[in-house]
Amino acid sequence: MRASNICLTLTGSTLEKNAADVLRYNSHIDMAELRVDCLTEEEQLYARRFPSMINVPCVLTIRRKSDGGEFTRGETSRTMLFGRALAFADRDQTKNFAYVDFEEDYHVPSLQDSALAFGVRIIRSLHVIDGPMTGLKARCDNMRKTGHEIPKIAFLPHTLNDIALLFKEAEDFHGEDEYDHILCTMGPMGQVVRILAPKLHSFVTYTSPEGSSVGASLGHITPEEMDSVYNFHSINDNTQVFGIAGWPLAKTMSPRLHNAGYYQHGINAVFVPIRSPNISDIMAFAKEAGVKGMAVTVPHKEGVLTELSETDESVLDIGSCNTVLRRNNGFVGYNTDASGFREALEGFLKEKKLHRRRVAIIGAGGAAKAIAYVIKQMGGKACVFNRTVEKARVLAQRYGFEYSALDISSASKLYDYSDIIVQTTSKGMDASDLPSKDNDPIYFYKFHGHENVFDIVYVPAITPIMARAQAAGCKTCNGEAMLRYQGERQFKIFTGIDYNSD
Ligand code: NAP
Repeated sequence: MRASNICLTLTGSTLEKNAADVLRYNSHIDMAELRVDCLTEEEQLYARRFPSMINVPCVLTIRRKSDGGEFTRGETSRTMLFGRALAFADRDQTKNFAYVDFEEDYHVPSLQDSALAFGVRIIRSLHVIDGPMTGLKARCDNMRKTGHEIPKIAFLPHTLNDIALLFKEAEDFHGEDEYDHILCTMGPMGQVVRILAPKLHSFVTYTSPEGSSVGASLGHITPEEMDSVYNFHSINDNTQVFGIAGWPLAKTMSPRLHNAGYYQHGINAVFVPIRSPNISDIMAFAKEAGVKGMAVTVPHKEGVLTELSETDESVLDIGSCNTVLRRNNGFVGYNTDASGFREALEGFLKEKKLHRRRVAIIGAGGAAKAIAYVIKQMGGKACVFNRTVEKARVLAQRYGFEYSALDISSASKLYDYSDIIVQTTSKGMDASDLPSKDNDPIYFYKFHGHENVFDIVYVPAITPIMARAQAAGCKTCNGEAMLRYQGERQFKIFTGIDYNSD
């Protein structure tokens, strides 16, 4: 199996800025790609100097607008810039570009000849913005005109099925006659491909510096995250794949928790984000890519139930599933939210029983189901408040609780159940603004100071509801401890090993 390299895509406007980014991520990258099309016009003329400003092999790329780049002048200007950047080859190869990226349809014999003569490897690339590609091996074979080029195919997936197809086709590249090739997908959905590049035997995976707007539009993570969180260089054919399935899965701490556990226990496994709004696509992808187990999050905790071949007792009791593990004939579902929440709530209240204390459960989604189950087990009396009242009714009646709408008409009811307020909606998740109607699901409720407020959201660390509650003198807790406890249980289900054992 050939090694995959972490490449830092450099889209800064000056050579100095790009060199500083290489320096910043030096210990995490194997190579860099200078996107000359992102430099100012004046700096573009001096691209030739760049390899001697850094200490890793560098790819020379001048990407056209039609291929997703910034270069808008004509092909003559582009050819002139390529020529300048490759000219006057230094005897010291490290001071020359190590690779040059020419698109599939860009053929300038004099440039190709000088690249070959100076030992600059040609990456022959094809970018497809409008969808998946098939027949990848045949297309790559065709791109290797001299037999030395590294063919690269990059596309923007529209569904996770497009990515499942890529995994299937990537197998055609494995074998005795394997050659260096690059397979990658763009956008946040494509992140799973970039992290699992070694499984596809892809020669390169692309990353970007923190704060890069081009990197953000491509869905890139930083080299540090690729290397340190995902242990990229340890991924190989035998690495077991686990993941978190959700949508849009903008922020998740689960990969950090699970991957740190694999590292600590010397387990050859990786935990990746698997993004799709469609749970059937996620399950089909998991089968194709050999994913062994998944944490399941918003909005799939209930939808996943029909995809399971077996369910643990906890899932039957609660009616939602946040963990699936592959067994021979399908996936078995578990629920670790309930035990994770219980452990976190006991830590917050310093009590193991609720002694009929009155609890408001805000929300009636997958997580709320686990929470209602725990509140009942602990002896609390609850009222479920939800935007969709029918869902609140169904959940409340399961446990003999009350239910109510989640709006100003329920303010006095909420006061009746305000010993403990557990916030379980996704409203307020990722909020960066001050508390308002838009990010606080109980904006209409005035805290008195006696309430214990547990918000199961953990980004931001102080959610809008918590900020308001704290200002009124309430005790508050976010969802971080719950996340850790439920994740540690998932780890045990996935690996059979206690997360915190030596
Ligand atoms: P879910 O099944 O999709 O349920 C979402 C809930 O949020 C529903 O009650 C929904 O109401 C409500 N909601 C969504 N947008 C709303 C809005 N704009 N206004 C009012 N209510 C809104 O999701 P889930 O799996 O229960 O997860 C919910 C949240 O808990 C997520 O932020 C998730 O990250 C977090 N969580 C944390 C942990 C942890 O370990 N800390 C564990 C699980 C979940 P409708 O029914 O009316 O749609």
